[in-house]
Order: sequence, then structure tokens, then C-alpha cells
Amino acid sequence: MNTEGVDGETRFFERVMAAGRREWPVLLIALAATALAFYHPAWAIAGLVVVVAAIVLRIVVAEAPESTQIPVISSARPETAVTDHVSALDLAAAVPDPLIIFDATSALSYANDAARRAFGPLQEGMPMLLKYRAPEMQELLSSVIGSSDGPRRVEYVERVPVDASYLVTAGSIGAGSGLFFLLFKDQSEARRIDRMRADFIANASHEMRTPLASISGFVETLRGPAKDDPAARERFLKIMQEQTGRMSRLIDDLLSLSRLEMKSHGKPAEPVDVRSVVQSVIDTLKPLAKDLSVAIHTDFPAGDLLVSGDRDELFQVFENLVENACKYGQTGGRVDVSISSQGEGGQQQIRVAIRDFGPGIPEEHIPRLTERFYRVDVQSSRAQKGTGLGLSIVKHILTRHDGRLSIKSEVGQGAEFTVILPARQVA
Ligand code: ADP
Repeated sequence: MNTEGVDGETRFFERVMAAGRREWPVLLIALAATALAFYHPAWAIAGLVVVVAAIVLRIVVAEAPESTQIPVISSARPETAVTDHVSALDLAAAVPDPLIIFDATSALSYANDAARRAFGPLQEGMPMLLKYRAPEMQELLSSVIGSSDGPRRVEYVERVPVDASYLVTAGSIGAGSGLFFLLFKDQSEARRIDRMRADFIANASHEMRTPLASISGFVETLRGPAKDDPAARERFLKIMQEQTGRMSRLIDDLLSLSRLEMKSHGKPAEPVDVRSVVQSVIDTLKPLAKDLSVAIHTDFPAGDLLVSGDRDELFQVFENLVENACKYGQTGGRVDVSISSQGEGGQQQIRVAIRDFGPGIPEEHIPRLTERFYRVDVQSSRAQKGTGLGLSIVKHILTRHDGRLSIKSEVGQGAEFTVILPARQVA
């Protein structure tokens, strides 16, 4: 089918309609002149003169070079049309990032809503050189106003009202407007992730270096002073073995975290029986509980306790929590593991609560427990062969399962960690 012809006709028709809308005063005068010509030919001549004058005037205005029409952008001025329905101001307001337009004296002509939200009150005429006093912004503004080169960029950190990091682009709007723009791209989130990554690498390296330093120290001692001391050799080799164990636990946990991060896009969806997973965790940890003189009590309801997920990952969640309860709550001598199923907001939930009767956790630490390498007491965690990554792995896995972890504790009363998972919907 030949769509070109149809499009061409449509466009021609649209152009005629648009010209009609634009030129309506001229058409009106032409109509009036034609009507008056019926009464007296002199009226027709006068009418024709007016029509010709009007047409010439319209042509002159339309053909005038753009540079002679200096647009001044302000909320009070009539809007410049981008299309029949969209003005330049509509466009600027729709930009989601802070956008500021200023003139060659750096006085503000326009600021969109995003700019006002980010930088507070911005009045027309306010000098941008006074508003943004940071050296990098001063340099950016001066260099843009003073040159006709393309846009320039700088990184800028705004401290008030909150810390925010921006990539700021500034340039001339051109078209003889004499106006310039500042566009702020918020990079705070990217910076925060960079900082977290750097902290994580620093922490992981520190955790690795400690056992490595210990192993290397003992190797030196064994080659030197303890060379011919079988008892010392035995003792040192045992410590070295413990340290290698610590390193390999750390590497296992780091790999777990990195695998979970790589899988973060898809959601695990196998049917998993929570009761059977929790029971096998308890069976696996029985020897540890026995060594620590901790008795594990269970309270599981009858009936279906199915969730959608990955059995191995859920095993890791409950293993971490029951192991922590046995290790850190050892003094209580008892750990209770209970499962319940209940509805909340139309959604059935399965809750697994792991309760210990140990020393508990001071309130201020509770919100930070799932951070990587966060430990209430580093020495006690190391003594318990902890890496400080267990609860962070738990949180990651639960997020993948649309679940969450609730922690309640009172010092001296023990702690309760509850896993809440959405029950599998029966089709
Ligand atoms: P770790 O490898 O050190 O055990 P986790 O991420 O599993 O790391 O736990 C973080 C910290 O939370 C632990 O070092 C410990 O201080 C605290 N913690 C976890 N579970 C308990 C608990 N049941 N009772 C008291 N403190 C706990």
C-alpha cells in the first residue's frame, strides 16, 4: 500500500489548517473587504490595501532572523510553542533532573521543580555565582559564560540540606538566546554503592590478612626457634590448621554472597517443604548442639508448610540461625524452634522462629546485624568461628524469596530470630 501519498495529503491538509489558525486576522480582514466591496468599490480598494499590508507585515515578521527575537524564559512570559500542544516550559518542567537556566550575568531565568526540590527557593534574577560558591561550580559557570565551546561537566557535592553528589553539565542554549543551562545528574546512589564496595573490599582483605599473618608468623617460628621442639610444633600446626579453616570459611561465605548477587534477577520457585528443611538443619546441627550442651526443642504444626524457593538456600538460612542460637545463646542451654502458618493482609505466611536464652543483643546493634562483617563482639564471633557474613547471607536469600527477617532481643533474656516467608499459593 502506498502510505506516502496518504501521509503527504494529510500533512498538506494539516498545514492548510495550521496556516488558517495562524493567519485568522488576515482572513477576517479579507472577508470583511469582500463583503464591503458589494456596497462600494472604494471599500474594496481600501480592504485590498489593508490585506496586502497585513500579508507583507506577516511575511516580514515570519522571515525575521531568529537572532533578533531573544527569548526570555520566565514563568510569567507567554510560552514558546515546541508543538501545538507543548511549550518549552512544559519540556523543561518535565525534565526529571534539576534544570536551571541563567543569563550572561549568571542571573536565574528559570528553574524547574526538580531544581527547587533539590536546592530550595530559587528566585528569578538570583545570581548563580552566589548560589553555587564551591570552586568547581564557580569555575564551571565562569567558563561557560565566557566561551562559546560545547557543554562542560564537573562533579559537585551539595552538603545542605542533605549530602548529595551531582554530575553537573553546563552549556549555552545557543540560538542567539544569550541564555545558559545547568543540568544536575544525581549520583548519590552510585557514590554510596562505590563506597560500600570499597568498604567491603577493605573488610574482606582485612579478614583474610589476619589468618594469613598468623600462619606466616608460625611458619617462621617453626623454621627458627621452634625447629627442634616437637610439642611447640604440634601446638603451632594446630593453630595454623584452625587459621586455614577460618580462611576457607570466609572464602565460602564470600562466594555464597557473590553467587547470590549474580542470581539476584531470577526468583527461585520450586515447592519447598519448610518443616522438612528445618528438621534436616536440626539433624545436621545435633552434634554441635551436643558439644555446646544446648538442647533443641521443636514445635511444628501439622499440615502443609510449603513455600516457593530454593531448598539449598533455605537450608543455609535456617542453618545460620540455629547455629548462631546454639553458639551465641550457649549459656541458655536451650534453643526453641517453632513453625507457624498465619494469614496477614490476605496472604498466608509461614513463620519460623528460632529462640535462644543466651545473653541477648543490645538494642542499638539489632538494625545493623545483617550488614556485611558487622559483629556485636568481634572476639566472640572469631572464637565461635564466625565470619560476620552469616546474617548478611540470610538477608540476601530471604529477599530473593520475598521473605524477611525479624529480630527481637532483650539483654539478658536471649534473642528471637523469625523468618517470615509467603506460603506457596495453591493453584
Ligand atoms: P558470625 O559469623 O559472626 O556469626 P553473623 O552475621 O551470623 O556472623 O552474626 C553477626 C553477629 O550477630 C554475630 O557476630 C553476633 O555478634 C550477633 N548474633 C547473631 N546471632 C546471635 C544470637 N542468637 N545471640 C546473640 N548475638 C547474636
